[in-house]
Amino acid sequence: MAGTIAIKNGYVFDPLNEINGEIMDIFIKDGKVVKELSPAEMKNAKVIDASGMTVMPGGVDSHSHVAGAKVNAGRMLRPEDHYKANLQKTSLTHSGSGYTVPSVYKQGYDYAAMGYTTVFEAAVPPLEARHTHEEMRTTPLLDMGGYLVLGNNFFLMRYLKEGDTEKAAAYVAWMMKTHKTYGIKCVNPAGVENWGWGKNISSLDEANIHFEITPREVIKGLTEINERLGMPMPVHLHANNLGHPGCYAITKDSLKIPDGVKTRQKMNVEWAETKMDPSRDRSVYLTHLMFNSFAGTTWADCESGVKDIADYINNKDHVVIDSGCTPFGEATVMTGDGPAIHDLYTLTGNKWSNTDVEMEGGSGVIPFTYLKSNPVHSLQWAMGLECLLLINDPWKTIMTTDSPNGGPFTKYPEVMTWLMSEAFRKQTFSECHKWANDRSELGGVNRELSLYDLAILTRANPAKTIGMVHRKGSLGVGADGDVTVYNINPQQLDPNNYEALLQTFRKAEYTVKGGEIVAIKGEIVSLPEKRTYYSEVHVEDEREKEMLADVKEWFRYYTIGFANYPTPEKYLANPTPIQVNGER
Ligand SMILES: [Zn+2]
Repeated sequence: MAGTIAIKNGYVFDPLNEINGEIMDIFIKDGKVVKELSPAEMKNAKVIDASGMTVMPGGVDSHSHVAGAKVNAGRMLRPEDHYKANLQKTSLTHSGSGYTVPSVYKQGYDYAAMGYTTVFEAAVPPLEARHTHEEMRTTPLLDMGGYLVLGNNFFLMRYLKEGDTEKAAAYVAWMMKTHKTYGIKCVNPAGVENWGWGKNISSLDEANIHFEITPREVIKGLTEINERLGMPMPVHLHANNLGHPGCYAITKDSLKIPDGVKTRQKMNVEWAETKMDPSRDRSVYLTHLMFNSFAGTTWADCESGVKDIADYINNKDHVVIDSGCTPFGEATVMTGDGPAIHDLYTLTGNKWSNTDVEMEGGSGVIPFTYLKSNPVHSLQWAMGLECLLLINDPWKTIMTTDSPNGGPFTKYPEVMTWLMSEAFRKQTFSECHKWANDRSELGGVNRELSLYDLAILTRANPAKTIGMVHRKGSLGVGADGDVTVYNINPQQLDPNNYEALLQTFRKAEYTVKGGEIVAIKGEIVSLPEKRTYYSEVHVEDEREKEMLADVKEWFRYYTIGFANYPTPEKYLANPTPIQVNGER
């Protein structure tokens, strides 16, 4: 029977159900977790003997760049990236290539080989939504969704400046269903607009050109609209001034803006069983904290500002972050933050690509290599790990490399192992520039994450943060049958033996998706169907009509006709709208 399986006798780590290493059986029927299988069902079910192994929900990546125009710009900009890693076709799988920016097929297989089953694309410019969906549809195995870039959108800046929250909310709702996207992404609020004039913004109260709106007003407006609409996830914020010495201050001040905004997640879904309250309790999800945490005034005196931000987050409950770790090696930096990429270009002289996406956003792409011998890169490595080790509550943190910005997602095993093994961190300190130790707090941190913590950072919390717990991140009855089995016996786990940990995280023993085994020891063995999620947000028709009159009027400035603007459902793999109740 397809999608029916029993995973027996493993040590189960399922934080949303407060299961911490209990030996249990997990049953999946027709793709969903069930309490048990009848004897007749058991006869036809596949069985995995997970004795002596670790069982977790399938991995969830809530911030990765895997589809769309800028990812593809990265592929085209870097032919050299494709010589380094390639994959031969098999009777089941496609060929593929690319190390930091793999082809769509390869990235699906690579994620599944590591035990990941769900990945959300972190930045979809509205006009590029079709392209993004085409690539997500073609990426095998992964359930996906995308966040819509709205932090410098003409209509929103105008409505917010005019104080017309009603129209702004109607616009966001309409844009989500028009582009089949899932949540609000806000990149360098108000600053990217200035990049059209070769400028940026460096303070929260600096008004941008023409719209005369400040980053503070954009962040405040978008977080309020987000809750007013009852969105599944918090506003996903890429703060201003990214990647500049001293930027930690503006980051901390930005986090203060949504403090006090009451969360209101109003989705009409069937929730999987969880012991913990599955609903969202954060009003802001700050991404790649590491890149926004530099203290100091220049690259000569820069140091880690993570401690200061971590102290703030430790005392507040409205913030969740992902880390943006930088394991050393090759990366391709790509972001909707065009001016930040230009700064990196002037710093490195590397080949550089910049795109403007009409009135809705832009992006930049540049190759980058993080070196252990480089003082700043070494510091960044330490800062990325500080983000996850200095914030005490694992439910406030999510592990990412902002792939491929800090490094490709295939480096997650290294990051997981650094988090779990102080010995591995010490080994890396001994190999890299002394700034890593001298200018961060990491050297004094003894904390080693447990398998339970790791399951929070890589499954339970990303799913909870983005409002996907009704399906993902847990092994409760009703959840999708997505499971990772790692060949780790928790009873014999030795963090000092970090080589063994690295090997196990690189290739999951089994990856199960929707109750089907999709990968065994890293080899892809089946290709079941996948889904794309998006938010269908409901607001009153009358309000939508009023707002659309403005939008249609402005469409004479677009290069495409209004009728061609929406992304049709056929661009999506198994389109799965999530009903969001809007203001009702
Ligand atoms: Zn990103």
